[in-house]
Amino acid sequence: MISRELRLEEPGSVAVYRFPTPGPEADGTLAWTSTTAVTVRLEAGGRTGLGWTYSTPAAAAIIRDELLPILVGRPPWDIAQCRLEMRRACRNFGTTGVVAQALSAVDIALWDLKARLLDTSLAHLMGSVRAATPVYGSGGFTNLPDEALEEQITSWLTAGCTAVKIEIGRETARDLDRLVRATDLVTGRAELMVDANGAYPTGHARRVGVALDELGVTWFEEPVRSDDHAGLTAVREGVECDVAAGEYVSDPMSAATLLDAVDCLQLDVTRCGGYTGFLECAALAAAHGLEVSAHCAPALHAPVAAAVPNLRHVEWFIDHARLEPLLVDGTPEVTDGLLPRAGEHGDCGHGMTLAASAAEFRI
Ligand SMILES: [Mg+2]
Repeated sequence: MISRELRLEEPGSVAVYRFPTPGPEADGTLAWTSTTAVTVRLEAGGRTGLGWTYSTPAAAAIIRDELLPILVGRPPWDIAQCRLEMRRACRNFGTTGVVAQALSAVDIALWDLKARLLDTSLAHLMGSVRAATPVYGSGGFTNLPDEALEEQITSWLTAGCTAVKIEIGRETARDLDRLVRATDLVTGRAELMVDANGAYPTGHARRVGVALDELGVTWFEEPVRSDDHAGLTAVREGVECDVAAGEYVSDPMSAATLLDAVDCLQLDVTRCGGYTGFLECAALAAAHGLEVSAHCAPALHAPVAAAVPNLRHVEWFIDHARLEPLLVDGTPEVTDGLLPRAGEHGDCGHGMTLAASAAEFRI
């Protein structure tokens, strides 16, 4: 039995990795050519906990300079106390955005470390309501040629997904044409979801929403900016499909502001305060009769998705699904459209450790 008196003695280590995309990618409001992952490792009692976030190298500086010094000498068991002190230390430069992403990575590492110290999986430490969680295929970037879009959707259907999501928000006429192509592939097999990433003014979003209803689209994500709650509400009143937002939620206070404006609250464990934040925000959504959906980072969501009763699905985002096996060993594999919880094969923690293959992507 590991001592209750155990302390985090070393400050931990931080690293930044940049994974190029296969080509230029774009959604309704952003274009990119790479994805940056910031990892943090914490050690105590001869065990190592691993967390990460998808962010900017600035998150690594926040973890190294502001968060890790706070943890030295604290019991790794007391995640709540560690979080409280880290948030206090960041008060004067804000606890949302990049700081929330840094806090999330450390929270995940603390949970992973605690489970490993207890020789158990995160699925067992958190407790599960299901052994595996439905994923939906996600990608369909706005700059993708039509044939490539069709290939992507077909691959998700083949993998057993019962829902797929594509990006819209650039040229409305072309987007509607892409959606007709997508509808031809998925009708009778899977739900079709779209993400506009806040591209539209409210009136235009409502008109696009009416067209989406006619096509049978079931999910309209960020039709307007997610901080425009009046706009989200106005769109929601004018369409049949579910309106979703929440990928930028950084804590329960910011989640609370969206509860009356969405049909399903999105949460991202790498942004919303890690596993602790995800559980807190999901409980808040449950108290308002809402389901939550996990945004991106499928491997990290596996244990917490299995632990949340009001979880609808996990986003199987193509960029992260591609890079996670390069970053870490032990990623859970999607089978028949389901993501297994961690620890099914006796693994401790979330079951993932930094992979040798990550070295070539380190910056
Ligand atoms: Mg989104």
